[in-house]
Amino acid sequence: MEKREQLYEGKAKKVFATDDPALVIVSYKDDATAFDGLKKGTIAGKGAVNNRMSNMLMQLLEQEGVPTHFVEELSERETLVKKVNIVPLEVIVRNVSAGSFSKRYGVEEGIVFDEPTIEFSYKNDDLHDPLINAYHAVALRLATKEEIARIKEYAFKVNGVLKEYFLRLGVRLIDFKLEFGRLPDGTVVLADEISPDTCRFWDAETGEKLDKDRFRRDLGGVEDAYREIFKRITEGK
Ligand code: ADP
Ligand code: UDP
Repeated sequence: MEKREQLYEGKAKKVFATDDPALVIVSYKDDATAFDGLKKGTIAGKGAVNNRMSNMLMQLLEQEGVPTHFVEELSERETLVKKVNIVPLEVIVRNVSAGSFSKRYGVEEGIVFDEPTIEFSYKNDDLHDPLINAYHAVALRLATKEEIARIKEYAFKVNGVLKEYFLRLGVRLIDFKLEFGRLPDGTVVLADEISPDTCRFWDAETGEKLDKDRFRRDLGGVEDAYREIFKRITEGK
């Protein structure tokens, strides 16, 4: 597999073409941003943790029947994935109140929901990723009704699998963001990443935050939190 030109540089990853038009290479950076790009920094070692963790979780999800873009881990920071046409929706699943949910509805963090929730944000930097409902997403032709139904089904399946997986490692999965994409034949697959950048993880015993909130909220111990969650995944608690 030959790496070709850079197609895109985002906030956390770069995407490269390969000699196969159906495949791209994603390269994970240590760069971190928060609050719509207003806060910028680096988290040493983050790229390697996110790459390897995302790949392990995607492989677990594949086994559990959720199709993903994952093809092959190439190195510590680089992975070969199926090139998809990204559905421009951030798909957010929540088990416990936190972050923007708590802010929006004026409730404390930590309320355990009877049922998980799902919401969508329109991935559009100029508009600052506004919340969008499924009808509006269909009206704007961001996705079809059928694609939204499939995305919801996969998102809740991902939640069920990961919630149980992390609880065994002594970690509560509070909420997370997913992105989905279309293969050339129209099949919807899970894409992008699943990592401490895109999930909230709380230690089941101490409540300690093991995710990007340590960076967002200047809590200190950011690198340690990424290392800790990675250690639990690779060593099993
Ligand atoms: P952002 O664009 O928000 O700054 P990243 O730095 O993570 O985010 O950049 C990675 C980009 O690659 C994102 O726009 C994401 O939607 C896109 N992407 C993720 N997986 C794939 C894939 N399999 N094929 C094509 N694009 C992808
Ligand atoms: N999230 C993300 N990218 C975003 C927005 C949110 O990965 O652009 C993740 C975030 O890490 C958290 C979940 O989605 O795990 C819910 O985030 P929330 O809506 O509470 O927003 P935030 O508090 O991060 O602004």
